[in-house]
Amino acid sequence: GLADRLQGTIQKIRGKGKISEADVKEMMREVRLALLEADVNFKVVKQFVKKVSERAVGQEVMKSLTPGQQVIKVVKEELTELMGGEQSQIAVSKRPPTIIMMVGLQGAGKTTTTGKLANLLRKKHNRKPLLVAADIYRPAAIKQLETVGKQLDLPVFSLGDQVSPVEIAKQAIEKAKEEHHDYVLIDTAGRLHIDENLMGELKDIKELSNPDEIFLVVDAMTGQDAVNVAESFNEALGISGVVLTKLDGDTRGGAALSIRSVTEKPIKFVGMGEKMDALEAFHPERMASRILGMGDVLSLIEKAQANVDEEKAKELEQKMRTMSFTFDDFLEQLGQVKQMGPLDELLKMMPGANKMKGLDKLQVDDKQIVHVEAIIQSMSKKEKTNPEVINASRRKRIAKGSGTSIQEVNRLLKQFEDMKKMMKQMSGMQGKGKKKGMKF
Ligand code: GDP
Ligand code: MG
Repeated sequence: GLADRLQGTIQKIRGKGKISEADVKEMMREVRLALLEADVNFKVVKQFVKKVSERAVGQEVMKSLTPGQQVIKVVKEELTELMGGEQSQIAVSKRPPTIIMMVGLQGAGKTTTTGKLANLLRKKHNRKPLLVAADIYRPAAIKQLETVGKQLDLPVFSLGDQVSPVEIAKQAIEKAKEEHHDYVLIDTAGRLHIDENLMGELKDIKELSNPDEIFLVVDAMTGQDAVNVAESFNEALGISGVVLTKLDGDTRGGAALSIRSVTEKPIKFVGMGEKMDALEAFHPERMASRILGMGDVLSLIEKAQANVDEEKAKELEQKMRTMSFTFDDFLEQLGQVKQMGPLDELLKMMPGANKMKGLDKLQVDDKQIVHVEAIIQSMSKKEKTNPEVINASRRKRIAKGSGTSIQEVNRLLKQFEDMKKMMKQMSGMQGKGKKKGMKF
């Protein structure tokens, strides 16, 4: 995939003390191929490569003591920029309810995302959303949203399939005002292809409900098509943001990179699975890190914050940033991580995870965790804080003490070392986003 290709390229120049224009050229050729292979729009690729090349042969990089690292930094910054730079926000209407229209083709994930978004609004921001079933065409569409509502214990407004979607939206908004809902999420109908009827109906709903946001839901698996769909919807309707679904699947990633620069509308959320909690705010910088195989430490920390002791998670973040992370922290974290959900999911977010072969197929079982815990517990205080003192005889002792093998000890030490290295690189690259409005 894209990550593998780019990482291969990056490995080649990472440690270089000096870098020539030829090096940059060669690297840019690889980057170009990697992006095209990932189904990124060719105009976007051209523009991107041009920008990175210009910066890479400039003073900033050539004069630097670590040009390899500098080029990577430039690539990361430009990837982030390509996806919209700063993280975007969701509207909050001054006169509630805030109205959000969900639009998109059939099967893109509108109904599912409507439920997920409502869930997120309630859980993270303590909002009181009303879901509106305005897809009267697809058989069982109303039922599907009602099922979602029941599952989340959230109210769903519907008038059956004999009333027009515009009328449904109108009455739903009245009801939301009466019952003091602060968000109204309208789940609209889709079609297999874009057509006049669909757009006409959506325009009517838009006119009537005057939405604060129009979120286009697109399926990341469809690659370039997703970008074309986004362009058409934006032209016809004027969308305010995109939700990219099914990013948990085997996508090539091209849509995430092209949509913003083609439509000039930000990706606001990404769907990471079918479950009602599988919706995440889109963070361009973190996505860029993920693509470059630098792991997604921040998402990992956020997950920890959501599920585990907040104080502890803050402390952990601080340690990661200052590089004072030790095996003791690792052990404590492991204990908490066990409560955070599927471990293989979490591991994928670790720095360097992309490079670990077969990680996607990995099933982490409790036995492995027990081994890791045993190994760390067999270390002395000094060894936990300064793992570099762990020489061959210490490794032997630790293996014996923990009832594991020297290979397992070596593997853990190596992983820990890699993780710290990656963190170090990342900590120099953290952006400082401005904070305003409602963030997710
Ligand atoms: P709609 O026609 O646009 O309303 O699409 P639905 O919400 O009915 O979703 C179509 C299918 O895609 C359903 O089977 C969903 O479970 C699935 N789906 C939606 N979002 C995601 C996602 O982020 N990941 C995965 N794997 N499946 C999703
Ligand atoms: Mg639907």
